[in-house]
Amino acid sequence: MKLESVRIPRRLQASDLGEGDVFDVRIVDRHVSAIAPAVDPVARGTLISCTVDAHAHIDKNYTVREVGAAEGDLFAAIQRMREHAARWTREAFDARMERAVGEAWQCGTRALRTHLDWVEPNAPVSLYAFEQLRERWSGRVELQFVSLTPLDLFADSAAGDRIAQAVQHAGGVMGAFVYRNEGLVHKLGRVFDLAQQYGLALDFHVDEGLDANATGLRTIAQLALARHERRRISCGHACSLATQDDAQAGRTLDLCAQACIDLIALPSTNLYLQGEWHRTPVARGITRIREAALRSMRASLATDNVQDAFYPYGSYDLVETFGLGVQMAHLAPATDWLDAITVSPATALGLAWDGRIAPGCPADLVLLAATDEYELLDARGRRRTVIRNGTVLEIEQ
Ligand SMILES: [Zn+2]
Repeated sequence: MKLESVRIPRRLQASDLGEGDVFDVRIVDRHVSAIAPAVDPVARGTLISCTVDAHAHIDKNYTVREVGAAEGDLFAAIQRMREHAARWTREAFDARMERAVGEAWQCGTRALRTHLDWVEPNAPVSLYAFEQLRERWSGRVELQFVSLTPLDLFADSAAGDRIAQAVQHAGGVMGAFVYRNEGLVHKLGRVFDLAQQYGLALDFHVDEGLDANATGLRTIAQLALARHERRRISCGHACSLATQDDAQAGRTLDLCAQACIDLIALPSTNLYLQGEWHRTPVARGITRIREAALRSMRASLATDNVQDAFYPYGSYDLVETFGLGVQMAHLAPATDWLDAITVSPATALGLAWDGRIAPGCPADLVLLAATDEYELLDARGRRRTVIRNGTVLEIEQ
């Protein structure tokens, strides 16, 4: 297969591919075999590696019609979801998780990390559904899970041990929901102890609100540095950074950069849940993606919730999420930020291939119709050909 005159964004090029950014790409079997400057330099599309979704919730997607939308109240959504979740059956989890991964696959996603609500020491039913799902999709979409536990539960030492043990057994990542908790340092310290003891990577929901006093992110970075933690740590949301003054936010980002924390921004859910609902919202909840980039921290953009109480709209199309992030954080030129749905999340998830395109890389690619940065945010420009293992995927309409 030959792809002629495709634009490969600079941040997705593995090495110096030569002058310009429009190339002819040859694919043989399952790999890219050659890349050369295009004979015709007028771009006919944009070539990216398959997308990677670093933060999703496939245990509760598509439940908004049952649970209702929370209209800006994160804690109401948590409470309401918990009441309904007690009645959810294994079959219900199977069906909605399968649908989510199927949609992601069709959109060109090659790996997805989901959080699973984990609110008591025992493993949730969703874990068993997830383990079979991971098996079914093996070789198509690489699936990872994170236990999502209220941080306060880690004050109970036996509970923390049970969770960490089960996460390790199922090959997962440990996480917690962190927002202005009492005894923050002590409880987070316990999570770091468990991660060390059980050899687990960490992935937090942190500072998901507009309170400038939320210091979860800073505390996580300080703990990681104090303990010389080398395992990967992802931090999702970090909305409070947006409401802190530049100096304070900058100090936190300096610590995060030093601790090599992977920052994950969730534009759709943060737009919906943060800011006022009784009038036009002025303050919004996007983390400081651009200040992070100045410190060489390249944030990921991920879907987060899809059609549930936390965010009642959306889909698993990461290119659409990307478009929202571009507008929300003024990421221009947009082509320069396509690493936020490819290379950065692949690195955060520790995938075997970082998503940079070069001769020899897997032919797991998405050819977008967009010929330039402007068309990336246009419905026609988002039209795509998904190539998996060197073969064009038939897209269901
Ligand atoms: Zn989330």
